[in-house]
Amino acid sequence: MDKPLVTFILSVDTEEEWDWSGPFPNDNFSVQNVHEIPAFQLFCQELGIKPTYLVDYAVANNKQSAGILNSLNKNECEFGAHLHPWANPPFFDDTNEFSSHVINLPIEHVEAKLKALLAIIEQKLHCKPSSFRTGRWGINGEVLALIKKYNISTDSSVYPLYHHNYFSCENAPSHAYWPSYDNTNQKSEQRDILEMPVTCGFNRTNYNFSQKLHKISASSPLNKLRIIGFLWHSLLLRKLYLSPELCSANDMKRLVDTCFKRGEHTFHMYLHSSSLLEQVTGLNNELNARENICQRIGEVIKHIQTYAEVEFLTLSEAHEKLKKNN
Ligand SMILES: [Zn+2]
Repeated sequence: MDKPLVTFILSVDTEEEWDWSGPFPNDNFSVQNVHEIPAFQLFCQELGIKPTYLVDYAVANNKQSAGILNSLNKNECEFGAHLHPWANPPFFDDTNEFSSHVINLPIEHVEAKLKALLAIIEQKLHCKPSSFRTGRWGINGEVLALIKKYNISTDSSVYPLYHHNYFSCENAPSHAYWPSYDNTNQKSEQRDILEMPVTCGFNRTNYNFSQKLHKISASSPLNKLRIIGFLWHSLLLRKLYLSPELCSANDMKRLVDTCFKRGEHTFHMYLHSSSLLEQVTGLNNELNARENICQRIGEVIKHIQTYAEVEFLTLSEAHEKLKKNN
């Protein structure tokens, strides 16, 4: 029997490295991690992966990092836009937890920042982004309409199964969909802008039940860490992310297995560029960071290829493909 065809997307938040537990900086950014990208890109090209680098203001505005990105083979990757409100002029107020989320800002502030971001990317990277992700995730109809106004056709700000004080993606589809401007967690008839959530899930196929169980155990007064730990170590229930900075190769393979059982045909892996530089980010604080990440990615691709033929696409290429099929 022929193997099914699946799509594999890799998106990289391409941004400054910083202390995630500290305050929000708005100048003196370090973008050392971008030096790791050429070797990472070559690794991806060897496997056929076409990364989408979602570039933020700090990286685009830095002469060295912009030069490095310009040296990449642009036929083998895509540059999209990534909006960190605290690192992206114009600045209106000091950034706090609330205002670090794009969806909490007045839409005029978001528009001014988005215009500056798209302008610096066009000026320094010589392209007009058509893919986008908010910093710290989350999207609403107002922001969705705004990015469409600026010719962005693929958004990837939905983080499936994620709940935050300011927004929830718990009811959003876990695969690509055309979001409604009234409720971005719901599908609609529009075909202008595609939502391409990253791949998250469980090692069990019933995500609704798993999410409920996971939430109950996380909120249980009975020593929640012990319950989650028991579920994790016994493999009864693991919440998993297709991200080599959050999950081991084996856990990502478990998630791939669940996705195949659920009949899903798109895999969207993601990471932060800062995770490629060793010992600088709280997410992936390890030696040989890039090598380890590449190793995990390679194992996952090999695993997917045992089940399926894999077509590697950038975010915008995935949009074009889905649009044709709809
Ligand atoms: Zn970011």
